[in-house]
Amino acid sequence: MNPKETLTEVYGNYVGNQRKTASSQATFDDEDPARKGSVLASFQASSPRDITDAVDAAAEAFLHWRRTPVDERQHLGSRFVQLVRQRQEDLAVIVSRENGKTLREARAEVQSAVTEGTYHVYQASRFVGHTLPAGTQGCTGWVQYHPVGVVGVISPWNFPVNVMCRKTLPALMTGNTVVFKPATFTPWSAIFMAQLFEEAGFPAGVFNCITGLGSSVGNALVDDPRVRAISFTGSTDVGKKIQERVARNLTRTQLELGGKNALVVMHDADLNAAVDAAMTAGFACAGQWCTSTSRILLQKQIHDRFLDMLAARCERMIVGDPLDENITMGPVAGPDQYESICTAIHRAKAEGARLVTGGAATGELGERGYFIRPTVFADVSPEMSIFREEIFGPVLAISPVDSLDQALRLANESRYALSSAIFTRDIDAAHKYIGEIDAGLAHVNIHTGFKLPALPFGGWKESGFGLPENGQTGLEFFVDRKAVYIKSSA
Ligand code: NAD
Repeated sequence: MNPKETLTEVYGNYVGNQRKTASSQATFDDEDPARKGSVLASFQASSPRDITDAVDAAAEAFLHWRRTPVDERQHLGSRFVQLVRQRQEDLAVIVSRENGKTLREARAEVQSAVTEGTYHVYQASRFVGHTLPAGTQGCTGWVQYHPVGVVGVISPWNFPVNVMCRKTLPALMTGNTVVFKPATFTPWSAIFMAQLFEEAGFPAGVFNCITGLGSSVGNALVDDPRVRAISFTGSTDVGKKIQERVARNLTRTQLELGGKNALVVMHDADLNAAVDAAMTAGFACAGQWCTSTSRILLQKQIHDRFLDMLAARCERMIVGDPLDENITMGPVAGPDQYESICTAIHRAKAEGARLVTGGAATGELGERGYFIRPTVFADVSPEMSIFREEIFGPVLAISPVDSLDQALRLANESRYALSSAIFTRDIDAAHKYIGEIDAGLAHVNIHTGFKLPALPFGGWKESGFGLPENGQTGLEFFVDRKAVYIKSSA
């Protein structure tokens, strides 16, 4: 398979290391967002019955996988990560073609999946419990970890490789088996990685992949009582629906959800660095990171200067075909995404925000694909929807502030609390910000998207629920704890 060619291939689901046709016999097409109406390949439009078959396979495989020694699991995990690294270019082209991010961004995503995957595989042997101090109450005791069983992983389209690895590898390394449901915009990278799991030598049924709509196969995965944990990344609305449904079976959840991340720039900040941060986290992957900066709160003294610098940088960005190495921003991921961003832009204008630069691409580019230019709105007030609602596109909302207190109040005036950043040279201001910002990630002089695998990655408020991904909690989510007590009969 050459990912650069246009394909007409029909890909099957992956169950028990076999390619399966959906019981509905129906398929859906994967569109390249840089070429409206194109078909990259077709994938199974699966039904709940296919989820049942995949859970059957995963439940059967769990019986032996749970007993497989951790070093053997790690050996297979390392082989998988190595294959992802070896196939980096193929995977990057696939991600770029089905998601629309530039090749450079897609390569960075695969590299990040390798870094995080390596961390999780390595961590599995360091994941040790606690023991009682010797002789407590005359007994010995410790905490023993057990895999929960079959795990459902549901991922979004914005990081189809990285999010999948960040969830699936800790689940597998701790002894669980997985049924994976990718987003409908990005099934190709999912099926490609399913092949890599098989190539790495994972036994049949340990990793399974079913493509199809969230409203049918997603629901079926969430509803199956044999699925003991759901790790989901996606929108807050869908996360809430999942949380309602799992209540029936008391299935545990790890929900990584939406954001409305604020960047605060104080009067004493290094403005070049702050503008760089706004450009990176505002427009990388066309503003479709969950940790993208979407609100910028500027202290009044530097407001106009920052805005001029930002607008000039936006106008220099080259929007176009993501496979072209000279392009700095690709299209957004698909038609629904494009419509919802355009609606948000129209609403912002109607509510009185000032469009500084950007908007939907017009002319030949606009006709060819789902392209939106880097967009900046100024004079945004807190009651406007552009200040409050997640847009998930290349759109920045700028508001002036008098003080750090006001910046904190406005930044925290949100139902979301995922990521945040402040640019300042004042150590006291930085500490106050870290202490008082509502967010799962707080950055000082670093953009809102920065993260490392050893620290937890998750949001507060309506940005997340359950134990965060990455770090120690990234493994803890996938285990049950057993308190063991032993008293010698002697
Ligand atoms: P989405 O919620 O529409 O879909 C996410 C996944 O859920 C897809 O696989 C989809 O098919 C599936 N799904 C849809 N309805 C379902 C249902 N009823 N039951 C089960 N599964 C269902 O999100 P999206 O559009 O793919 O991704 C964008 C969203 O994801 C944004 O809100 C973004 O902020 C969020 N996101 C969050 C993080 C994070 O770590 N916090 C990371 C990436 C993306």
